[in-house]
Amino acid sequence: MSMDRIAVVGAGTMGNGIAHVAAQHGKSVILVDVTLDVLERARDTVSKNLDRQVRKGVLDSSAKEAALSRIELSTDMASAAARADLIVEAVPERADLKFAIVEALDIVAGPDTIIATNTSSISVTEIAAHTDRPDRVIGMHFMNPVPVMPLIELIRGLATSDATTEAVLELSRELGKTPVEVNDFPGFVSNRVLMPMINEAVFALMEGVAEAEAIDTIVKLGMNHPMGPLELADLIGLDTCLNILEVLHRDLGDDRYRPCPLLRKYVAAGWLGRKTRRGFFRYE
Ligand code: NAD
Repeated sequence: MSMDRIAVVGAGTMGNGIAHVAAQHGKSVILVDVTLDVLERARDTVSKNLDRQVRKGVLDSSAKEAALSRIELSTDMASAAARADLIVEAVPERADLKFAIVEALDIVAGPDTIIATNTSSISVTEIAAHTDRPDRVIGMHFMNPVPVMPLIELIRGLATSDATTEAVLELSRELGKTPVEVNDFPGFVSNRVLMPMINEAVFALMEGVAEAEAIDTIVKLGMNHPMGPLELADLIGLDTCLNILEVLHRDLGDDRYRPCPLLRKYVAAGWLGRKTRRGFFRYE
């Protein structure tokens, strides 16, 4: 199955990274968001991240320009979807929004087009059930930052076909990633393991067990993690962390996943981490 044209819906933290990696590996990308302003910012981010790869010797500057030229910006989701072999949705982690987006995509996309969702926790089976092509819907969970992280957690919904899984496994490898297949349960594997750790770190901060810096240093030096849990939460986005914890709490029905009130407070204040330059730490 040819997957040369990829539409990426949502040009935020993840969407721009997915567009970057796809374009770097020769795919034609249509990056979609609600305003041109957001899209231009996303392209600037891709350009800066490609520059970093050039400085590190991963890419030469002509490859950088070629990759950038393969990314088209669009606010017209329907036309982008109609031209794509694969659509990756990367809109915020809200079930109502994802359902509405896949319903709209399903109407305009070609009959063979695969719809992949980058959801971190929402049921892929339920997202797929909002389309008339549940066999061609799959979870393609890229990790942040996408150009750097080698993993794609590939989530099979209940109705995802073998052909869809095979095609997306092959594409993931073409993009230089290592796909790992999992079944569809809340938070899959990655966030079921990661989010309780982040949440516990926020509880420790709220209860005054230690300052943010100290909590992160203990995990980095004591457990050999490259990044502390609070810095990682800031990188992921505190709103995204809260949304994932809400899904784990509700869908697994276990209070051990209850989101820490301090996390809720930061999100209510609009302190969402790196993307707003303030979360548990400040970013200039
Ligand atoms: P984000 O808030 O940074 O970006 C979301 C983008 O979607 C924004 O640019 C927004 O304008 C756009 N958007 C909203 N409604 C839209 C619409 N109707 N049409 C087109 N675009 C629309 O969010 P993010 O961190 O990039 O997360 C996106 C998805 O990826 C979520 O499902 C999240 O759970 C998942 N994810 C996030 C991370 C992470 O570390 N941030 C990691 C893996 C997966």
